[in-house]
Amino acid sequence: MQDPSTSASFKLSIVIPMYNEEQGARECVRRVKAVLNSMGCDHEIIFVNDGSVDKTLEYLIDEKSRDEKLRIVDLSRNFGHQAAITAGLDRATGDCVIVIDGDLQDPPEVFPRLVEKWQEGYDVVHARRIKRKGMSFLAHLRAKVYYRIMRAISEIDIPVDVGDFRLISKRVCDNLRQLREKHRYIRGLATWVGYKQTIIEYDREERFAGVPQYTFAKLVHLSMAGLTGFSKFPLRLGVLLGAFCFALCLIFASILMLWPAATASWTPAVIAILFVGALQLVCLGIIGEYLALGLEHHRNRPLYIVQEEY
Ligand code: UDP
Ligand code: MG
Repeated sequence: MQDPSTSASFKLSIVIPMYNEEQGARECVRRVKAVLNSMGCDHEIIFVNDGSVDKTLEYLIDEKSRDEKLRIVDLSRNFGHQAAITAGLDRATGDCVIVIDGDLQDPPEVFPRLVEKWQEGYDVVHARRIKRKGMSFLAHLRAKVYYRIMRAISEIDIPVDVGDFRLISKRVCDNLRQLREKHRYIRGLATWVGYKQTIIEYDREERFAGVPQYTFAKLVHLSMAGLTGFSKFPLRLGVLLGAFCFALCLIFASILMLWPAATASWTPAVIAILFVGALQLVCLGIIGEYLALGLEHHRNRPLYIVQEEY
């Protein structure tokens, strides 16, 4: 168990997913090491090479030959950011673990602030992006809207504008290792585990080098993992839309009955279409409810996590 008072005698694990980051890999190692050395704590840096097809792995292996605290997990292919982070978390041995992107958009200089919060007793310290340099207006808007939709329909309170840059305690890392669902949304899972959580704020930098490795398709996949993993609202949409159709159907039927002279010849047809449509949507929604139940079982998350036992 963490002992916040023994500030100098803890081990910090850093997990860094890397996919085609050859241009920034060495700079990433340099900056992360500089911060860790200034902090003076024991540490390990776990790079997960997520099937890079450039020289990322070669450079990392070279860096490791000069620093035994570096560890490299080389995945057999590109499994994606969330899977790469998971591979790192599965191997972390520290008292607390920081996950950070390898493109230096998240400044390693924030580490001491994350650790400080952990030492104050927090198990999860999220890092919230205040400014996002070098992001187009549209991408910025897309992120803002997505985080807010998630907050509105999610079953748990996932903080907005928070990505995967965060510190987690050893016990949270152990808990995350138990959650083996395929469509992973780690920021949701890290919130789901509970305990004392807090948020620090930072400015997101531009990439040090290279281009974003998150293609639009990968972004959609991540967003869907968030929506389906933490909200049943999309499944229930059928019932809501069905109710809406029923309401319209009633309005038209009332008009037809109260003011027959005012109604057009198409009104009965519209009522029939709305009625059948509503029936179908409600049935779809009910299937959705059962699907949601099946999903819960399939995910196989533990029913609860014990924080401490006296
Ligand atoms: N990344 C990865 N696998 C992927 C895509 C990205 O490991 O399939 C890594 C990437 O090298 C970087 C981090 O995940 O360290 C975040 O990716 P990126 O910078 O492209 O995302 P963005 O900052 O645009 O959200
Ligand atoms: Mg990035």
